[in-house]
Amino acid sequence: MKKIIKHTPKLDGENGWLATAPDANKLFSEPLKGNHQFDVVIIGAGFTGISTALRLAENNPSLKIALIDALQIGQGTSGRNAGFLSDIPHHLDANLYSKKEIEQSISLSAFALNKLKAYKDHYQIPHWDDAGKYLSAREGENVALLKKFIKALEYSGIEYEWLSGNPLQKRLGTPYYRASVYTKGAALVNPATLIRGLIAALPESVTLFENSPVSAIDYQQPLHKVHFVGGSINAEKVILTTNAYLSAFGIAGNKTLPIFTYASLTAPLSSDQISQYFQDISAWGTTPAHHAGTTVRLTSDHRIFIRNSFDYLPTLQADAAKREKAWKIHRQSFLARFPFLVNNEFQYTWGGMISLTRNQAPQFATPYKNVYLISGCNGSGVIKGFYLGYYLADYLSKIESENLRFILKTANPNWLPKGPIRQIVTSYRIPRDTKAARGDV
Ligand SMILES: Cc1cc2nc3c(=O)[nH]c(=O)nc-3n(C[C@H](O)[C@H](O)[C@H](O)COP(=O)(O)OP(=O)(O)OC[C@H]3O[C@@H](n4cnc5c(N)ncnc54)[C@H](O)[C@@H]3O)c2cc1C
Repeated sequence: MKKIIKHTPKLDGENGWLATAPDANKLFSEPLKGNHQFDVVIIGAGFTGISTALRLAENNPSLKIALIDALQIGQGTSGRNAGFLSDIPHHLDANLYSKKEIEQSISLSAFALNKLKAYKDHYQIPHWDDAGKYLSAREGENVALLKKFIKALEYSGIEYEWLSGNPLQKRLGTPYYRASVYTKGAALVNPATLIRGLIAALPESVTLFENSPVSAIDYQQPLHKVHFVGGSINAEKVILTTNAYLSAFGIAGNKTLPIFTYASLTAPLSSDQISQYFQDISAWGTTPAHHAGTTVRLTSDHRIFIRNSFDYLPTLQADAAKREKAWKIHRQSFLARFPFLVNNEFQYTWGGMISLTRNQAPQFATPYKNVYLISGCNGSGVIKGFYLGYYLADYLSKIESENLRFILKTANPNWLPKGPIRQIVTSYRIPRDTKAARGDV
């Protein structure tokens, strides 16, 4: 059965993280040309695909593995996100999950964060801050969400600080938020620097092909055939770690929803601005208590990062008009929090896709014989993708563990509508949720 890939990834604006990463223009590989044979082909060299490749090669050093990406490493969503490596899952809710499930999710997140930290230390990957993270609310209704989060933290014995008023303002340099919950375990990174830094860890048995969009796949036995313009790969096993692009592959589209969100990054603040407004304030990052709110960071090189706005775009591409609209909202969110920075412009604005599921469970599936997929990052897939990739490799290598059993049991998203119904639902839900977040946008 041949499936044509309907949409391949595009740049969607100027990614500020990649532009400010070391050796941003360096290519790690040639594009794929000619016909090749590998044991395994992994499509998607983001955090999930790289983690899968690293662990699979560790488990089976003699396997010949091809790792493919349509873009240059760091140009994809793994290099475009807000850079929160959170040790605590976003969606902790003591009312929805059992104590055991919450503890297992936290332990998986900690496992992935520690692995990434070990790679960062070993390969001396810069732009990593062990800054912890805030979850913040301005609106009274959203403060109630902070309280729900605290309940889950207390349930699991996780330390936190509740901050409001002057102490909070002193930590962030803005009086904007009514309250925040600070947890100390998360890291804040330049995600493009990190994903590019991980390439050094790939062993020789893994061959990377950047700038190589897959145009079609023949799912067939005994070898699947993956097509490119000017080339192909025959492989026994195909792994799809394309996250939100999964829908372009024409499989499993009724479980995940690709949604665009957008980010902007300023130039570094001046030394006068730092001493006047951010004296003794180190890098920080906050996610919003309301899911439709704004993520904000002050980076260690004193740039301000803003992320918000959502679009459902079935073409999997955001045009300039969409980015312009997001930029305007970013500007409002920025000025609301930092009115004293009125003369600071954004240097970069870009979009990227997240893969949502209805019940926030990721997808970890085998749609055809010897074809495996991971999707459904739900906006926090750096850590989640990293551990799912690791355990997918264990699954293929028949290495059992409690963590793998937990993933197999829980990574099961609910059904979502497709086609025009999906369009109607999203065109109603996105504005409704944004309105409900109010001042937290
Ligand atoms: C603006 C923004 C902010 C975010 N903030 C955070 C955050 O702070 N923390 C967090 O954990 N998560 C965050 N996320 C989500 C996070 O970026 C994703 O969960 C993460 O990138 C998922 O990694 P992945 O490897 O599964 O998928 P991706 O990073 O999307 O990688 C998939 C790769 O597949 C490639 N691909 C797709 N189609 C093809 C094809 N036809 N041929 C070849 N290659 C193909 C793509 O080019 C891409 O590089 C954010 C996302 C966005 C957009």
